[in-house]
This record gives sequence, C-alpha cells and structure tokens, in this order.
Amino acid sequence: MPIKNQDRPPRARLIGNVLLLLSGIFLLVNLFLPNLFGPQIPRVPYSLFIHQVQEQQVSRASVGQNEIRYQLKGENDQAGQVFATTPIFDLQLPKLLEEKGVEFGAPPPARNGWFTSVLGWVIPPLIFVGILQFFAGRGGGPQGALSIGKSKAKVYVEGESARTTFNDVAGVEEAKTELVEIVDFLKTPGRFTQIGARIPKGVLLVGPPGTGKTLLAKAVAGEAGVPFFSISGSEFVELFVGVGSSRVRDLFEQAKKQAPCIVFIDELDAIGKSRSSSGFYGGNDEREQTLNQLLTEMDGFAAGQQTVIVLAATNRPETLDPALLRPGRFDRQVLVDRPDLAGREAILKIHAQKVKLGADVNLKAIATRTPGFAGADLANLVNEAALLAARFRREAVSQADLNEAIERVVAGLEKKSRVLNDKEKKIVAYHEVGHALVGYLTPGSGKVEKISIIPRGMAALGYTLQLPTEDRFLMDEAEIRGQIATLLGGRSAEEIVFGSITTGASNDLQRATDLAERMVTTYGMSKVLGPLAYEKGQQAMFLGDGMSNPRRSVSDRTAEAIDQEVKEIVEQAHQRALDILETNRDLLEQISVKLLETEVIEGETLHQLLSQVKQPAAAG
Ligand code: ADP
Ligand code: MG
Ligand code: ZN
Repeated sequence: MPIKNQDRPPRARLIGNVLLLLSGIFLLVNLFLPNLFGPQIPRVPYSLFIHQVQEQQVSRASVGQNEIRYQLKGENDQAGQVFATTPIFDLQLPKLLEEKGVEFGAPPPARNGWFTSVLGWVIPPLIFVGILQFFAGRGGGPQGALSIGKSKAKVYVEGESARTTFNDVAGVEEAKTELVEIVDFLKTPGRFTQIGARIPKGVLLVGPPGTGKTLLAKAVAGEAGVPFFSISGSEFVELFVGVGSSRVRDLFEQAKKQAPCIVFIDELDAIGKSRSSSGFYGGNDEREQTLNQLLTEMDGFAAGQQTVIVLAATNRPETLDPALLRPGRFDRQVLVDRPDLAGREAILKIHAQKVKLGADVNLKAIATRTPGFAGADLANLVNEAALLAARFRREAVSQADLNEAIERVVAGLEKKSRVLNDKEKKIVAYHEVGHALVGYLTPGSGKVEKISIIPRGMAALGYTLQLPTEDRFLMDEAEIRGQIATLLGGRSAEEIVFGSITTGASNDLQRATDLAERMVTTYGMSKVLGPLAYEKGQQAMFLGDGMSNPRRSVSDRTAEAIDQEVKEIVEQAHQRALDILETNRDLLEQISVKLLETEVIEGETLHQLLSQVKQPAAAG
C-alpha cells in the first residue's frame, strides 16, 4: 500500500517551476511554429474522423479551431494511434462525440481578437499535454500526479495488513522460482556475498500485459519485507529534455537511502527503447538522456554496499536497447507468460476467494473455457460474475454468472436495449452465419461456439464467438489466411444473399486488412517481398516516429509491391470465403432462418449444424 509520496526537495520544486515556465514558452513557440515543434501527426480527412467516431474507434479527441487531434482506442494496455484532421464547422460534433463516448476537450468559442485566437491554439496543445500526462500517470502507480520535474516514485513499505506475497500470484511458477532467489538475496545478502557470488542488479520481467508482472514485483518486495519503489517508464518521459534523467537520479538517491530495497520500473520500454529507433521531438535527446542516466545509476551502485535490486517489466523486450541487457544491468530475464489450464484455475481460485461462490461453481470448467486469458482478464471475469450476481440479487456467484462473464470479457457487454429492425436483423443473421461457416472450415480461427444476433458491446450488432481449441502462441501462414477469410465471411454472406454490403462489415474489413498487412510487412510471409520486416518495431504512442510512418523507409516500388501483395491476400481470402458460402448456400439459409427465430445458437445444436458444412471443390 502506498505509504507516502516522497517529499520533494525545494530544489526540485524550483526546477518544477522553471519547467512549467519553459512549458509555457514551449506552447507559445508551438503556437507560432506549429510545424517545427509539433509532433508529426498524420492528417486524415474529416470524413474519416467522423466515420471512426461513428464506429466508436475513437477514445478521445481535443477539438481546436483549426485542428482536431484524436486518438484511436488501443489494444490492451497500449494507447491507440493519434491522428489530426481539419475541422469543418459542425454543430453536431460535440453531440456526436458525447454519444459515442469520446472524451473530449473543446476550446472556448472563437471571438474576434488575438487573445481568443491564441487561446484557440494554446488550449488544444494544453489538452494534448494533459492527455499525455494522463497516460504517463496511468501507467504506473495507484495515482498519477500532474507535475513536472519531481520523482513520482511511489513507495510501498511492507504493511502488516495488505502485503502482497507469492500466494497472491499463480500460474507463473517458473517466474516465481526465479524470483524466490531474489528474495533470498534481499533478505540475507551476506550469505551470497560471503562466498563471492555477485548479487544481480537488474531483473527484467518479460511478458504480455496483465500477466502479473507488477504483482510479482510487489510480491518480491512483500516476501522480502523491503521497501518497494515503483515508477512507470512512461512517467520519466516528458516533453522537456532533462526531466527524465533528473527523475532517475532522484529515484536512485532515495532508493539507496532505504537499501535494501526494490526499485520497480514498469513499462521499461518507454525509456529503454533502442537508441537506434529514435525520432522524438527534434531528435531523441530526452529519452536517450533518461536511458543513459538509468544505465549510469545501475552501474554506479556496487553490489554488496547497498542492495538495491532493480526490477523492470516490459511486454516488448525486442525494442529494448541492447545496452540495458548487458551483464551488470538487466542480465536476468524472467518470462511471465499467460497461464496454462492449471494456472488459470489457480488464478481463478485466488480471485474467487474474494467473492461468495455458489455450490455449483466449477472453476476448472471456467479455466477450460478461457485459453489465452491473462491473469488480469481472469480477475476481471470473476468481478464481472460477482457484479452479475449482485445485479440479480443472488446470494452467491453461480456457474451461469461465470459463464456469462466469460462472454462479457470476450465480446463486451450485452446490450439488449438496442433494437434492430427486421431487415437489419436479417442482414446481421446472414452476416454472422457467414463468419461461422467460413470459420468452421478454416484452420486457426478456433472452434465456433456461439452465434448471436443479440447486440452486445459498443459496436457489434451480432457476434460469432470462437474459442480457441488450445492455447496458441504461434500461428502459421495458413491459419492467418484462414482468419482473414473468416473475417470476410460476414461480408461475403451479405454479398451472396443480398447482393449488397452494409456498413456493418467495416470493422471486419479493417481487421482483415491489418492482418494481411502484418503478414507481408511484419511476419515476412510474402513470397514476393521475402522474409523482410518492413514494419518498424512497435512505436511509442504519439512521440515516437511511428505515427508519421510506421514502415521502414522503402522505395516506392516496394511500397507498391506491399500494397499489391496485401490486396492479393485479402482478395484470395475473400474468394475463399465466397467459395465456401456458395458451396454451402442451403446451409447458410437454414442456419440463418433458425438464428432469426432463436437469436442465439450455441453448443450441441450449433456443432451439429456446422458439421454439415462441405469443403468447396478444389479451387479452379
Ligand atoms: P502486468 O503488470 O503484467 O500488466 P498486473 O500485475 O498489473 O499485470 O496484473 C493486474 C491484475 O491482474 C493483478 O493486480 C491481479 O489482480 C491480476 N493478475 C494478473 N496476473 C495474475 C496472476 N498470475 N495471478 C493472480 N492474479 C493475477
Ligand atoms: Mg503492470
Ligand atoms: Zn462481422
């Protein structure tokens, strides 16, 4: 539990004020030279922006007089891409944004005079900076402060009541085994130094979001009973050169005073990104300096004197600067992966302790149905189930609640209130059955478990629930092609049955195209372009160079070839989907009609229907 925020010395406050002043100047400069200092945000047509808002792909927007900057919803923990567009006078916009759940900040209405027009320019960047700070603050600790220049590390000291231990973490047994050793180092460093063993300085926890990296780091501190300094990498990264490195210095100064202790840096990739992939506001000075400072600090404290162990977490180890991984720095890497079946059951057990479970609950069955779920998803699932039980005023959480919660976590919240008219319903039914039929025949897209035309979630009108049949980490080319075909199955069914396509398919198309593009540019699966990664590694949200151009610089010819190849992959998949549906036209009809009656088809009934799907005759 957070005990206190370290007091900041007066010097830091002074620096903070100076920086605030600098930030003011920065914004004014930004005002006059927007193109010089402003981040290179890709501009898109206004119509695309509106479309994306309507599709509920936009998470937040800052509306200026001359520019709207907005950010797409990201996947998992990551922030989505940022775009800019030129606004068109549109009184409906605020209403639309509100309706679609877009967070937004609007500048005051334009009046004459330079003052307001200055405001019009200054406020959007301010909002923008605010958003940035919001993200920086969100990354790490329990509360994110909006201050510049002070070390924002949160200190956790072992609290008697709520101290995290290894018992709170499950499903990552190997990681635990490795970390037990770190606990021993912290508890009895003498035992190790006595025989000349070097105490590791840095341990890097690597794994997908939500798998319990932060939790593990806290557990190490809890088990060892030492203070725990926690800060997120993104909190170091500021607009202003020098802030990050002074924060690093600050943090280690404090830590050394409290040794033995743990310094935990979450999202290490935010500062530790490979220096070669730079491209920040006019160079990459800030991050580079911060990184250098971190390296200096890590080299600086000699083992034995002060036992400060630096734990760090990342889900993108491949982007880290190699200098970070050298001996004496983060030379130990611990994989924190998604849990397997037994692990998921164990995690469910931990979280189920916090809720009242009914007699019929079988956590093993829930674990079986949730391959690919990370610890955080499972925690979320249990909580959703408890909320459901509470809503219906049940005494305890039942198995049905848990099952329903799985679907909620997978597909978003059910929205029975949204009523489709008959025609829409019909289109959605054929669309979803299209997905299901193609999905049934193609490898890699999982077992079709349920088709529903009850709208749920934010945007989906109907949905086809596919559960992977096993835990998957790698996909081969055929499987990705299969997935693309499955995504296009809905649209293809609309084409075949109605001869026209509705807007409902746009999200499918987006995802299909993305997959195809990744095949070519990231996975090197294209025969024409060869095994080259044209995509640069994942980029930081707005400040990285990713937003202007995520691809390596390629010749026009190559770019053309990529586009051509992506198009071909999608077209082939589309053709395959059409073939399958054409071959199974009667079945498509039969299942759709049934779906329109019952609204949901699942389980045995569905399996039986789908078992009649025929492979199309060999492609001719
Ligand atoms: P990460 O840092 O890897 O993104 P977190 O440690 O922040 O993930 O996990 C978020 C929450 O999810 C934890 O607080 C915990 O409630 C739950 N959780 C995640 N992984 C596990 C796990 N392996 N065992 C138990 N709970 C977990
Ligand atoms: Mg975390
Ligand atoms: Zn669809």
